[in-house]
Amino acid sequence: MTIRAIELVRASIDLVTPMRTSYGVNAQRDLLYVHVIGDDAEGWGECVALTHPGYTDEYVDGCEAVIRSQLLPLVGATTTAEQFIESCLGIERNYMAKAAVEMALLDYWLRVEKKSLATFLGATQSRVVAGVSIGIYSDIDELLNVVSGFCAEGYSRVKLKIEPGNDIEPVRAVRKAFGDDLLLQVDANSAYSIEDAQHLAQLDEFNLLLLEQPLAEDDLAGHAELAQRISTPLCLDESIVSLASARNALDMGACSIVNLKAGRVGGFLEAKKIHDLCFERNIPVWCGGMYETGIGRAAALALAALPGFTLPSDLSASKKYFLEDVTTPFELVDGCLDVPNTMGIGVAPNQGTLQRITTRTEEFRL
Ligand code: MG
Repeated sequence: MTIRAIELVRASIDLVTPMRTSYGVNAQRDLLYVHVIGDDAEGWGECVALTHPGYTDEYVDGCEAVIRSQLLPLVGATTTAEQFIESCLGIERNYMAKAAVEMALLDYWLRVEKKSLATFLGATQSRVVAGVSIGIYSDIDELLNVVSGFCAEGYSRVKLKIEPGNDIEPVRAVRKAFGDDLLLQVDANSAYSIEDAQHLAQLDEFNLLLLEQPLAEDDLAGHAELAQRISTPLCLDESIVSLASARNALDMGACSIVNLKAGRVGGFLEAKKIHDLCFERNIPVWCGGMYETGIGRAAALALAALPGFTLPSDLSASKKYFLEDVTTPFELVDGCLDVPNTMGIGVAPNQGTLQRITTRTEEFRL
């Protein structure tokens, strides 16, 4: 039961549809996998950081550099995920980099123990309701077509990305076309300021599940003020980077719903603590997505199966993102995705596909 080597695998995969958000357009997914190789098992972790530091300050090349020079030296032949996270206490932030290494170590050690990540985390659900996150379309007819296609596939909850100039009217059009029964929410990715409170209050008439991250990541006071000025429930995504930030946001009244992504908070161990805090306070939690391939998607599904995840996730079927996923594709069944419940994260990359998309591999012997 010893780790012999760790590989950093860089790869790139085309997205089926370029995704436009308020911070830019992604047509390709740059990937970074952490591959733990042991005597008796292997573990995989996927870094959720994107190509550019537009969503948060982390980006995939930066994560690779941090992992190589700062995090891998902390991993020894018998280091567990818990020990790794403890040894990271002297390294500030770099949540996505830490989370990728943690996921690979969790996958490895859970396989050694023959236990699933879902069981380890305390999952209570075997299926997760799949929602769909739809990028910004300037043409409303095109947007309505896209929404219609996803509804026909069985998605029961739709999230629209919004930005100033592409907000009230697209939401109005979708609500009008698909009726009051469609579960609908919006995500602004920090594109507004508190001066826009009156403008954002126009969303109140559309009976949205939530408005996600309208203001800047560090503007908890602004979110708390906005929560008083609009009736649509506020959800935070980018602002929640740790248990401390979650507690702070809830104490301040900056949100009443939390979007939880393990990669954004430094890993699954921290995500579980945030889940537990929200569960204790009756704050609904749901699982966001970062265009993960099957590796990251499998792990995210294990998290999204915890009891506090009471709102539909942003975890969609593989084919929404990629023509060919790196693992066996996740498919929608009755609007849900199955939670993997075999050993570790429950999936491993298909070697042929991985080889085709890999651009570089670097091995570090322990
Ligand atoms: Mg978001």
